[in-house]
Amino acid sequence: MQPTSPAPTAAVAVPRTARKRVLIVNVFFDEYRRTTGSPYRVPQAMAPCFLAGAFSARACDVRIYNEQYSGVLRDADLLAWPDMLVLTGLTSAYDRMLHLTAYARSLNPRVVVVAGGPGVRAMPGRSRRFFDYACMGDIEELQSVVREAFGAAYVADEDFPRYDLLEGRRILGYVESSRNCNFSCSFCSLTAEGRGYAKYDLDYIERQILATGKKQIVFIDNNFYGNDRRFFLARLDLLGALYRERRIKGWSALVTGDFFGKTENLELVREAGCKALFSGIESFDTETLLSYNKRQNTLVPQVEMIRNCLEAGIIFAYGVMLDPATRRLADLRREIEFIVGTPEITMPAYFTLVIPLLGTPYFRDCLNKGLLLPNVRLRDLDGVTVAMHPRDPLDDVVRFARDLPSLRGYRGRVMRQVMGFLAHYRGRLTPLQLYSAVLNGALICMETFATSPGSIGSKRPRQTYLAGTEALDPQYTPMIRVAAAFEGHFRPTMVTDESGALADDVAEDLSV
Ligand code: SF4
Repeated sequence: MQPTSPAPTAAVAVPRTARKRVLIVNVFFDEYRRTTGSPYRVPQAMAPCFLAGAFSARACDVRIYNEQYSGVLRDADLLAWPDMLVLTGLTSAYDRMLHLTAYARSLNPRVVVVAGGPGVRAMPGRSRRFFDYACMGDIEELQSVVREAFGAAYVADEDFPRYDLLEGRRILGYVESSRNCNFSCSFCSLTAEGRGYAKYDLDYIERQILATGKKQIVFIDNNFYGNDRRFFLARLDLLGALYRERRIKGWSALVTGDFFGKTENLELVREAGCKALFSGIESFDTETLLSYNKRQNTLVPQVEMIRNCLEAGIIFAYGVMLDPATRRLADLRREIEFIVGTPEITMPAYFTLVIPLLGTPYFRDCLNKGLLLPNVRLRDLDGVTVAMHPRDPLDDVVRFARDLPSLRGYRGRVMRQVMGFLAHYRGRLTPLQLYSAVLNGALICMETFATSPGSIGSKRPRQTYLAGTEALDPQYTPMIRVAAAFEGHFRPTMVTDESGALADDVAEDLSV
């Protein structure tokens, strides 16, 4: 399957007065209830830029807004402006789509609301009740929506990302060369959706890279390595040529654990200009990996994999997921102590609780075993809030969850780990790479400052870190008066009821 753009449509003249106004928003809820945006997070959501490519620039005025980057969208004039509002975002931010729908419809009853993303795909029945178009497919589906809602004249001749709409301050260029994944980890939303690994053609990839206008390229593929070696090598040829011609200064990508099983791969990507790789380590515990069906991470011992990568001159970034519903706290703490006591590896970019994403095998397993807590809201499934019955006393686990993202109690050891890392890799990694590796420790210990300096001192609600009682974001209170018919849009979507069974909000979509 090639997710390249559909055949160009014939250009049709559109009178100036008939131009359509389109607002595309990436909705976002911050784990720490910050509302100011996190412009320094990497990667940034690129869906608005890619979705904007569906609209004819001759016939439509398109604006994009990314709440993750710019903070909460509070501009009522902007929400009143569009003829079409397009919404996308992570599952935990699904409710935010409802908020913006309520505002847009209250301010302009004729607005067409289109929504997509994993939350919409996991809850098609619920979504069709709120949105005019609930997209079940990929971004190309938007062209069909535009054709049906506005007419063929409003569809782009070619579906190509609108990098020109992004803020000019960015230093990284984001590019996609493939979609989906050839593995089936039990907790992953891609597994729930079951769509096959798909590739773009090389010419399209090169055009994307050059169109970003940036020298540092980040591939946002779910799995850059994939299961097609010829395609992998062809992309390295392309990137190597661009790198040698100095048209790019370097690139980074996400690869799966099997990439590290072929020793020549590290040499190949470095020669092609790769500066950093991200891989979902998830856990250093083999039993845990096997329980997630993440066998690809057991092919090469994890520490060896990270060390090989760093010694090849490539930064290794990863995240760690901890699951108090299946492991004891003492076991989880041992894993953290192992990480902060091993200076040959980078510190994780983040620590998170495992999230039972709707529709995944992991979610179903938790549901069948009665592990979901009562009154869990969709908003609670953010990796920070305890949403499942733990093996240890709940109060202890809630304290653990509160301390986890910033590794409270381990900060001294994190700093020692970072100093040991610097001593070990000085001379093997460039100063910029060393800086970015050290940044991981800073991001963890000073989460607020590192990614969102503008939020320092801002007032945030006190958090409980427990599903059902966690403070809701201020966005759940309407910022303007909305029509009575839309007041329910500000009620959080419930995942479980008071007994821990599926709540009515999601039962239609998630009952087996
Ligand atoms: S390897 Fe990553 S992207 Fe692929 S299924 Fe597993 S978690 Fe999802």
